[in-house]
Amino acid sequence: MNDYYAILGVDRNASAEEIKRAYRKLALRYHPDKNPGDKAAEEKFKQINEAYAVLSDPEKRAHYDRYGTATPGGGAGGSNFGDIFDLFEQVFGFRSPGSGAGRAPRGEDLEATVEMELVEVLHGAEKELVYERLVPCADCQGQGGRRQTCRACGGRGVVEQIQRTFFGNMVAQASCGVCRGRGYTLAETCPTCKGQGRVRRQEHLRVHLPAGIDENQLLRVSGMGNLGPGGAGDLFVRPRIRPHPHLQRDGANLIYELRLGLAQAALGAKVTVPGLEGDLELSIPPGTREGEVFELENQGLPLPGSPRRGKLQVVTRLEVPQNLPPRARDLLRQYAQEMGEEVAPEGFWEKVKRVFRG
Ligand SMILES: [Zn+2]
Ligand SMILES: [Zn+2]
Repeated sequence: MNDYYAILGVDRNASAEEIKRAYRKLALRYHPDKNPGDKAAEEKFKQINEAYAVLSDPEKRAHYDRYGTATPGGGAGGSNFGDIFDLFEQVFGFRSPGSGAGRAPRGEDLEATVEMELVEVLHGAEKELVYERLVPCADCQGQGGRRQTCRACGGRGVVEQIQRTFFGNMVAQASCGVCRGRGYTLAETCPTCKGQGRVRRQEHLRVHLPAGIDENQLLRVSGMGNLGPGGAGDLFVRPRIRPHPHLQRDGANLIYELRLGLAQAALGAKVTVPGLEGDLELSIPPGTREGEVFELENQGLPLPGSPRRGKLQVVTRLEVPQNLPPRARDLLRQYAQEMGEEVAPEGFWEKVKRVFRG
């Protein structure tokens, strides 16, 4: 994960003004116009903008401080040069050159799911992700075939239409319907990509899923989305955590439902609880009730921004015995007598069942 504070070279508790000042300085130094053709500078410029987009927004900054990620849903910004130049304009008050209309479109962002076990959330995990993305077709160099200038619009991509209105004739521009605004048509269609200019390719990618991650957190892998004429989109990796056979997750806490027999609940017991990394011992005091919660500290999942872990919460579920063997039933009758509890007489329910069956 990117350390946005390090990228901007500011302290974790830097003020909004300090962050803005650091951004201004770096954005000017690494601006693509000052470093033409320098890929490293371009990447740096992207990172600076991404960092600033998050840290300049109090809500996004708070989320980042807490979870160490930007929320892609809220748009971290910065991945797309369109957003970057918008940001640049906000801070500097002028539009940077090279940001005008007619930029070639960037490839689409993609989303892929990666499966992980609950125990992997504890330490983080490296996973290999296999997914497909669109890349330029090698057989036609991404052209889709042999291109020719569109005759309908003369290559401009737009056509003028005269509209009769109440005020007289008006000239309106519309996207050319023949070439769909592209300015060219295909004289020959590339058979490999069927004129699309892009083909599907399988990618293998190693992704690091940080400890404590949850299913609402998407990890952005910059530049691993579809490739378009204006560059690559991003890949968003969504973790899917497989259900655990015994434990449920509640943020950084884990929940375990402990089944207790009547005698255990009444007399107390030493029980084993299946923890995330092995069995744990727990003493249940005499007189434990249904739905009581026992907390095992530091046995949950990593707490965001802390070396500590959440709790394992053990919730008791009282098991009422079914189909008692005769001796146990006799003992329970004796118990009822001792406690003055009135119970159905021996054989009562057998009789009732017979009556209902007819
Ligand atoms: Zn046209
Ligand atoms: Zn092709």
